[in-house]
Amino acid sequence: MKKIKDIFREKGKTFSFELFPPKTEEGFRNLLNTIDGLCALEPDFISCTYGAGGGGREKTLDVVQHIQDKHAVAGLAHLTCVLHTKEEIKNILKDIQSRGIRNVLALRGDPPQDNPRWKPGEDSFRYSCELCTFIRQNFGDYFTIGVAGFPEGHILCPDRALDARYLKIKIDNGADFVITQLFFDNKDYFDYVARLRSLGVTNRVIPGILPITHYKNLVKFCALCGATITPEVKEIFEPIQDDQERTLKAGIDFAVRQCRELLDGGAPGLHFYCLNKISPTDKILSEIRR
Ligand SMILES: Cc1cc2nc3c(=O)[nH]c(=O)nc-3n(C[C@H](O)[C@H](O)[C@H](O)COP(=O)(O)OP(=O)(O)OC[C@H]3O[C@@H](n4cnc5c(N)ncnc54)[C@H](O)[C@@H]3O)c2cc1C
Repeated sequence: MKKIKDIFREKGKTFSFELFPPKTEEGFRNLLNTIDGLCALEPDFISCTYGAGGGGREKTLDVVQHIQDKHAVAGLAHLTCVLHTKEEIKNILKDIQSRGIRNVLALRGDPPQDNPRWKPGEDSFRYSCELCTFIRQNFGDYFTIGVAGFPEGHILCPDRALDARYLKIKIDNGADFVITQLFFDNKDYFDYVARLRSLGVTNRVIPGILPITHYKNLVKFCALCGATITPEVKEIFEPIQDDQERTLKAGIDFAVRQCRELLDGGAPGLHFYCLNKISPTDKILSEIRR
């Protein structure tokens, strides 16, 4: 199965999707149908989250392996440091390798709600940059490594310049590319890329796109992850928040505009947070691929 780095050599822009592992068996069966539909859209790769409010952590690898084995689409397995020792991480990486998965999104993760006080000890990683180093030291070039980037700064590091310097450390420690947190003001993305370029980061920074489908949920989610609801988003979606049909339509229009501007401005592709659904990502993609 292809490494994402090799796909980058062939393609100037990539289109990719993010899924999460469902909590139930029924959810898992439904996801397989969703994956059928998403793969018909010919994505360059599909990623699956790890322990971020989804189902069991081992399910991440099952989802990624299924995408690769059944659909011959490159899979990207998210992996977080929280709650794991270095030894456990090594074993998970061996498992990832044994399944033929060549791409890992190296993350720190957040302490879970049921264990909010978890702190990394001597035998675990504090930051994702340490995970990048560990992967390169133990697995050489076997994996393409992606990392998370935050155009508005990470919620715990609102100093954007400092957060960009931390991103540079991840790259220096072996990361190959970046996928960003969702954002709604493209200026934040372009400024972020400029900040990284001025630090000497030449790697791809793929914008993460969240199609808006439900305004109230969006407000809650953004409060948790630190993304800004821009005045424009508020103005469009707040007045129609109880009208699901109008919200969906406005969400597609907004995402199409956002994506077109990003691609026209030089973004090296788009990574859609699909939330385990085919629509509206399918509609957005068909518009921007015209
Ligand atoms: C594309 C994407 C995918 C994600 N997927 C998942 C997932 O699958 N599962 C999940 O649980 N979460 C996921 N997250 C959320 C992510 O785990 C959280 O945002 C987490 O708080 C930060 O992860 P990180 O890898 O950026 O951490 P880090 O890069 O370790 O950064 C964490 C914090 O420490 C600071 N920092 C970084 N490096 C240093 C350093 N060297 N010295 C001092 N401070 C430093 C940063 O500014 C930041 O405030 C994802 C986020 C994104 C954007």
